[in-house]
Amino acid sequence: MATTSTSLGLDSTIATPEKLRSLLDRQRAAFAEEGVATYEVRIDRTDRLIALMVENKDEIANALNEDFGHRSYVASLLADVWFVIDSYKYNKLHLRDWMQPETHEAMFPDAQARVEYQAKGVVGVVSPWNFPWNLAFDPIGYAIAAGNRVMLKPSELTPSTSALMAELTNQYFDETELAAVQGGPEVGAAFTALPFDHLIFTGSAKVGSAIMRAASASLTPVTLELGGKSPALIGRSADLGDAVRRILTAKTFNAGQVCLTPDYVLLPKELEEQFVSAAKTAVASMYPELKNNPDYTSIINETHFSRLKNWLADAESKGAEVIELNPASEDLSDIAARRFAPTLLLKVTDDMTILQEEIFGPLLPVVAYETLDEAIAFINARSRPLALYYFSNDTAEERQVLNRTLSGGVTVNDCMTHAFDHSLPFGGIGASGMGAYHGKQGFLTFSHARAIYRQSKTPQAELLFRPPFGEPVKAFLESEITK
Ligand code: NAD
Repeated sequence: MATTSTSLGLDSTIATPEKLRSLLDRQRAAFAEEGVATYEVRIDRTDRLIALMVENKDEIANALNEDFGHRSYVASLLADVWFVIDSYKYNKLHLRDWMQPETHEAMFPDAQARVEYQAKGVVGVVSPWNFPWNLAFDPIGYAIAAGNRVMLKPSELTPSTSALMAELTNQYFDETELAAVQGGPEVGAAFTALPFDHLIFTGSAKVGSAIMRAASASLTPVTLELGGKSPALIGRSADLGDAVRRILTAKTFNAGQVCLTPDYVLLPKELEEQFVSAAKTAVASMYPELKNNPDYTSIINETHFSRLKNWLADAESKGAEVIELNPASEDLSDIAARRFAPTLLLKVTDDMTILQEEIFGPLLPVVAYETLDEAIAFINARSRPLALYYFSNDTAEERQVLNRTLSGGVTVNDCMTHAFDHSLPFGGIGASGMGAYHGKQGFLTFSHARAIYRQSKTPQAELLFRPPFGEPVKAFLESEITK
């Protein structure tokens, strides 16, 4: 396991409020002293982020494996390493363009109006356990590209990973550029009470709400990347086999411990039998066995494993039909291994916890519908989801679904892909979050769009507003206040 020794002495100690405050002060002083971080400085910092990820990819995957009990090595490299490096490369490609001031149309011909994108200062990042590097280091990349300093508080549920983050940031960065601190909810509370210049939080809605309250004391702007119940709606014109394969691919990735995973399926009533058969085929082809399959990730800890078991029992006791997708019929009861079979639940009802809470695991309730109106009403009766997945070959119906629902993002005919395209903003709406990052939106989120106006020499520009208000201003108002 990685050990750390930062100037905060965070290897075995938890950050105290005083140490956190002192780190913030040092970062802020360095920010002020540096002035505007040039394009070259931002590229150098981005290159160091790339080097950190590339040179330590195996250490990163190993620490994740240790934290999860078992974490697919390839999935770790895909989601926590490659994706982040790819986003840094995207930033490098576009940064010069993003940094350009924007010229606007001024009120007077000889005046100038422009927007300059200015770094905000010190950005706080609080991140979750499910894709620890992705959800900490991707936002960090945008904050750094925008010229900020960054303090990170990763999750206590992935201690090896969080310790490695502290060690590597210390190795590749001065602590006034980027620093990672350790600790759980208490440190999180002290961290989010700091007067950051921007705070980005990825995690649960419950903690997101506490963070917004904490940030309100210093009027720190927040970006909240939360979760929720993202539906996968299958239309009657969809290629069912393809839809089921894609839904199960997403649902079994990281064993469903993904904010964007399809939480439940809305399926035309008459297709239930075909759906179950296609789901069995899809899982068997991806995971002929589950118990020792290196590609299948374990549930993060016993608390979450028991939570999923309890929610399954709750649904079963209330009449759900449970279909375990366990191709080799293995015994997966070993709580130490925490392998949880993908499981379909049919005949589900609103009183079951699985239809109320975000599942965050490989349980997949299937809600049967007769009409599209019924399916749309089901989605709209719940909090606004982070994502909506819609499968169909009917463009008129697709337009209806897009017009009559709201969600953070949408992928049509697949799951999650809208979030992998660096050019698209990523974020929630309502209970699934506020604000967004990724692509240019990531740069903008961590920048202040500063309006700069250089006044015209036209006498009118001044005289109109100066009392005593005489005939010229009255004539001006007369001529301008019209329909
Ligand atoms: P969590 O909210 O329990 O914890 C997230 C982080 O907040 C951790 O670092 C934790 O230490 C910290 N924290 C806990 N209590 C705090 C407090 N009172 N004040 C300040 N910080 C505090 O979330 P989790 O269990 O780590 O992650 C799962 C949740 O995250 C799910 O709801 C999932 O949907 C969501 N999520 C969202 C996205 C996204 O991009 N929208 C991505 C991944 C996960």
